[in-house]
Amino acid sequence: MASRVRYLPDAVFWQGSFQSNVALEVSPDGQCVGTVPATQAADAVRMPGKLLLPGWVNGHSHAFQRLIRGATEYVAQGAGRDDFWSWRELMYQAAERLSPEDVYVASRQAFVEMALAGMTSVGEFHYLHHQSDGSPYADRNELAKQVIRAARDVGLRITLLRVGYARSGYQVPENPRQRRFKDARVEDFLSATSDLRSQTKSDPLVTVGLAPHSVRAVPVSWLEEIARLNSTHPLHMHVSEQPAEIEACLREHQARPVQLLERLGLLGTPFTAVHAIHLQEDEVLALGRSKSFVCACPTTERNLGDGVIPADALVQAGAQLSLGSDSQATIDLLEECRAVEGHLRLVRQRRNVLDPGTGALDGVARTVFAMATTGGAGSLGLPVGELRPGAPADFVTVAVDHPSLVGTREALWLPSVVLGAEKGAVRDVAVAGRLIVQDGAHPLQSISGREYSGLARRLFS
Ligand SMILES: [Zn+2]
Repeated sequence: MASRVRYLPDAVFWQGSFQSNVALEVSPDGQCVGTVPATQAADAVRMPGKLLLPGWVNGHSHAFQRLIRGATEYVAQGAGRDDFWSWRELMYQAAERLSPEDVYVASRQAFVEMALAGMTSVGEFHYLHHQSDGSPYADRNELAKQVIRAARDVGLRITLLRVGYARSGYQVPENPRQRRFKDARVEDFLSATSDLRSQTKSDPLVTVGLAPHSVRAVPVSWLEEIARLNSTHPLHMHVSEQPAEIEACLREHQARPVQLLERLGLLGTPFTAVHAIHLQEDEVLALGRSKSFVCACPTTERNLGDGVIPADALVQAGAQLSLGSDSQATIDLLEECRAVEGHLRLVRQRRNVLDPGTGALDGVARTVFAMATTGGAGSLGLPVGELRPGAPADFVTVAVDHPSLVGTREALWLPSVVLGAEKGAVRDVAVAGRLIVQDGAHPLQSISGREYSGLARRLFS
């Protein structure tokens, strides 16, 4: 019979603070039971020199975009400049050519990289649905299921945010490269999503949410239908990433994106605005008042030249922030933590912008670590993000003797890890009590890397 397992690192980040000389006790079904003194944990799995923390939650990912990392960092000859929209065309070129197996291979590699970097959950904003000519697969959720299979093979917990995509934009001619994304009717989008939910419900590590892509890609009639559902499942949407999207929204609706969403009754707890960069003050207040989630993806936003999210104003207004690796330009959620604060320092020209001002040594670290854990968990509707009794034992360990951490001391553990640790400091990663990364290695690392390299070569040769 399976029994409780105990893990004994140097310290456990238990219910929001470090406890030294205790073991984390995990039930046979993968939940945290509590901590027990090291002296009573002779049978524990020993993890000397390591700190054990809740696993990071990646709130926004397009796994397959890992394929274009490094391939878009130049200006095309004669173009004069590069921006989001030219990057998007290159991304579409990759998206066009992927078979279901390719989607699996690309996603698995992105997820292996996430696991190795300490992520235990991912919110996959999934918009590749159909064959290259736009006709559905025999199973309309074929590609979503490939992404889910990839996450589950790697061992990650996944919230599949099934995207609804109707059009290229307001008064924008059809882009044939978007055929794989589109559903003809809102009913098709909603029924595919609920089918996927019922087909995956036997796996407790898989959940399904709704993701109308953006105010650009769905008409208001779709958003009204979604608002009528009054669903409690996660509801994610790209919001105000690029100024052009706001101008088009003003032309079509005489309102800015967040103003429109508020009018439609979509803001509130299950709603996450991804990006939310170009906001007026009234929009910041609307997101805060409604306690909406906002997912910042700062390494992608800087890679694409989107702008800087006003995270300080959003937090102050009451919005709940999360973080995502989005385009996979970088897969490192701690780097997202640093970037969300770091970009604000450049813009505001001062330090420690996200510090709540209590004078604690870990003020900024706590704020951004909450985004990477509890904020992400809330946004994805998952009971993770904090190690507490009854919560899933999704955790990560970091080695304090790693060059990026060596010499840190107890009072600085959290800021040292969150603001200083490199990915190589991550040693073990567990999801629902099961170790998926041990001593910095994942069992699928080599086969995944090999098959992924083959795909990348074939795709771009
Ligand atoms: Zn995105």
